[in-house]
Amino acid sequence: MVSRVIPVDPFDLVIFGGTGDLARRKILPGLFRRYLSGQMTPESRIIGAARSEMDDAGFREMVADAIEEFGGPEKSEKAAIAEFLDKLAYVAIDAKGEGGWKELAGQMRDGVVRAFYFSVAPSLFGDLAERLHAHEIANSESRIVVEKPFGRDLETAKALNATLAGYFDETQIYRIDHYLGKETVQNLMAVRFGNVLFEPLWNNHYVDHIQITVAETVGVGGRGAYYDKSGAMRDMVQNHLMQLLCLIAMEPPSKFEADEVRNEKLKVIRALQPVDSHHIVRGQYDADGDSPSYRDDAENPRSFTESFVAMRCHINNWRWAGVPFYLRTGKKMKARASEIAVVFKDLGHSIFEGDEARHRNILAIRLQPNEGIDLQVTIKEPGPGGMRLIDVPLDMTFSEALGEEADDVTDAYERLIMDVIRGNQTLFMRGDEVEAAWEWTDPIIEGWNKRNDVPKWYDQGSSGPDDALMLMHRDGRRWRDIKG
Ligand code: NAP
Repeated sequence: MVSRVIPVDPFDLVIFGGTGDLARRKILPGLFRRYLSGQMTPESRIIGAARSEMDDAGFREMVADAIEEFGGPEKSEKAAIAEFLDKLAYVAIDAKGEGGWKELAGQMRDGVVRAFYFSVAPSLFGDLAERLHAHEIANSESRIVVEKPFGRDLETAKALNATLAGYFDETQIYRIDHYLGKETVQNLMAVRFGNVLFEPLWNNHYVDHIQITVAETVGVGGRGAYYDKSGAMRDMVQNHLMQLLCLIAMEPPSKFEADEVRNEKLKVIRALQPVDSHHIVRGQYDADGDSPSYRDDAENPRSFTESFVAMRCHINNWRWAGVPFYLRTGKKMKARASEIAVVFKDLGHSIFEGDEARHRNILAIRLQPNEGIDLQVTIKEPGPGGMRLIDVPLDMTFSEALGEEADDVTDAYERLIMDVIRGNQTLFMRGDEVEAAWEWTDPIIEGWNKRNDVPKWYDQGSSGPDDALMLMHRDGRRWRDIKG
């Protein structure tokens, strides 16, 4: 099977923060891959902007190094890299200053899509929006891409939304959450809504519970002081885990279109019950030999910020009444693995002697590693010796099912940037969604602060604190193993 790449319209993409970590690791190598695939047309151009003084040649050299360091096999395509670098320019601009804007205005062309990627600290979003307008660089057709964190609570998110709304219509604002750009996340929607098989079972009659795990092996070393102001709840749950929860739990949208999908996601967030403090566990990783503890990494010996959180939540609607959703995420865990598991109920009655209530169907959606979906089903163990049952996965791993085409699975960032150019907001968060998510998370965080809640220690390389295991054991359930 050969994948079909549909070229997007020619564009001028300005990357504010074009010299930063995100631009170098993800955005620019990703754009090169889209160029190589033919999706980014040769008429398109990319303009880096940041305060550092640099000319076009210096920026091109920086991007060539970034492709060399962070690109995949495509970094050997030397001729294509040279062509791609030719599409790049650089303008020195301080978001808070007046220099450079006229030059940027002079670089922008009419008749192509204009997009502005705000890959800078959120405190600069307002300055950028204001100056893009003052210098008539942005027009009513332009798009802006904004990075997380989108606020640190409801109040700051509202303020940020209001600032951007002063210059851009909601249809022009693309709040990026790269989890939504993952192939498997979109495949989750295809599996749910493209098959007759699953939707009839997707409710409290057949689903026992749902688990969402996003586990990392890295700690916060390097960015500890920054992370300490945020914690796992703000950094992961409010955005990535809640977005996954929405996609798994939402009602079928009438069409696969931006506002239809986002309306359904918003309804899920609004139906989330406040979380009881007994149903939430926070943790901090302990020191392990030479490997520092969370508090050492955060350079804050009295820190109460969590590097791990696990919780049980409920969605108050007809479909999900009584079905617990267990979420957990943490750093320094036993493996780097992200997964959503839909665990179906036991058979009401087993006709096989000795096998009562042993088998459960589980639909596991793996985001990393080995993106793919598998359905655990029960079959007869092959061979003689009577009717013995075993559980086997029906594996829908892309590389096996799709062969060569899976090699072209696009990285989340580059897919989402192409969606921006196409003007497709389906996989981006709308302002009201972000605010609703903060409205749900704020009271949880405020509760911790009021109670001076102390996170539990957990061993590096483990599955989190014992209390997190108890959270499920108490309910007669257990977490799935975190496998890398
Ligand atoms: P970074 O490495 O610190 O880069 C910041 C960039 O902004 C640099 O290019 C810097 O260049 C530029 N900059 C700083 N102040 C500026 C100003 N006043 N005017 C114009 N440009 C300015 O940060 P990053 O890691 O790339 O992150 C960028 C944004 O993405 C942040 O909001 C971050 O939270 C978000 N994000 C990052 C990641 C990631 O993996 N890195 C992941 C998710 C979200 P100069 O110093 O030359 O101006």
